[in-house]
Amino acid sequence: MNLIFTGPPGAGKGTIASRISEELKIPHISTGDLFRKAIKEKTPLGLRVESILASGELVPDDVTCGIVEERLKLKDAVDGFILDGFPRTIVQAEALSGITRIDGVVNFLVEDQLIIRRLSGRRICRNCGAGYHVDFMPPKKEGICDVCGGELYTRPDDAIEAIQNRLEVYRVQTSPLIDYYRRKDLIIDVDGSPDAASVTTDVLKLLTRLQAHR
Ligand code: ADP
Ligand code: ADP
Ligand code: ZN
Repeated sequence: MNLIFTGPPGAGKGTIASRISEELKIPHISTGDLFRKAIKEKTPLGLRVESILASGELVPDDVTCGIVEERLKLKDAVDGFILDGFPRTIVQAEALSGITRIDGVVNFLVEDQLIIRRLSGRRICRNCGAGYHVDFMPPKKEGICDVCGGELYTRPDDAIEAIQNRLEVYRVQTSPLIDYYRRKDLIIDVDGSPDAASVTTDVLKLLTRLQAHR
């Protein structure tokens, strides 16, 4: 299945995508993760996008679409994928439609108040990128990744000043995609507010239903 996970920052797209990716054995492709990897490795792309990510603005469409197009060419994506955080604009959605077919767009619904709690408590492993939350998904040992022992950090764009801007960017530039994909009958709404295990089960059920109807 070729899937898109959409929703505001902090809705849980990455967390749920990594679990569903393991379950369905399809790759989890996060443009945010690809950009953060480039920044960490100080590649030309990384140097170009570092300040954009820190501010919470969007990376230009041509750059982002180029990266996704290259990533989707890799062998592991031939039998399906989960795009997490892409597309984020109508221009990106149009470009994607020229590259591949999409079977469903899972739309994570979460209230702003909960989003702010989730983003302000989010911690990421510097080494392997695994995600945690200080209250909702704490690591076994504070500040240390359960998976690899790496150091956990707070993303610069999860600072409270940047969160407000990102929510605004989401509202203006990304949320129109919901109507865009609803018109194509691809939207699958899911309540993203319960615990991660429940949301994962709900999404898996919805995807099983989608597959049966294809
Ligand atoms: P979140 O998990 O909070 O929704 P992401 O990790 O998906 O954030 O993205 C982090 C940042 O990377 C975005 O704020 C933006 O600067 C950049 N980015 C990620 N995906 C895209 C995209 N599809 N288009 C433009 N910029 C993007
Ligand atoms: P997104 O990719 O949509 O920006 P993340 O998956 O990174 O969101 O989740 C944001 C934060 O909320 C992380 O700290 C994550 O551990 C936590 N989180 C994600 N899903 C849930 C959930 N269902 N319940 C509680 N916390 C969650
Ligand atoms: Zn780790």
